[in-house]
Amino acid sequence: MKNQILKSFLVLIGGAFILQSCQQEDTNPPAISSVSVNDVMGLDFLVQPGDSLAIRFTIIDDYPLSQMKASIHDAADGHSHNGVVDTAAVVPNVGLWVDTRILALSGTTVTKTLYYVVPDTIHGVWHWELQAVDESGNAAEELVVEFDVQ
Ligand SMILES: [Zn+2]
Repeated sequence: MKNQILKSFLVLIGGAFILQSCQQEDTNPPAISSVSVNDVMGLDFLVQPGDSLAIRFTIIDDYPLSQMKASIHDAADGHSHNGVVDTAAVVPNVGLWVDTRILALSGTTVTKTLYYVVPDTIHGVWHWELQAVDESGNAAEELVVEFDVQ
């Protein structure tokens, strides 16, 4: 009798496992690609105060996308993203440039262009950082473009 209970328990567990494996699970993060600034591909740009910037990029995933965040922050401390250390001499930035945009996404391929104007009161190094997540919460490897404002 005890053995039979154990057997039916095992059958139950097995059934639950099979059910779960049949469900499609999204574990792949989105990918960010084709980044350009004013139609020039790259991740490092020399710009001037007052310049207009059109930053274009594509985000793709095999399942629907959910949200993206594009933000600009001070990078004068020489910090890095994704393990690439900036060894350039650290000079404090002049002025502030802060901009954060959070946008809802839908579909599996999104191409967007975001428009910025470099403040005319700043000098130094800033990062434009792009993050994206899909509907399952998988986060893309962040993408960073460096702007050297001179
Ligand atoms: Zn940064």
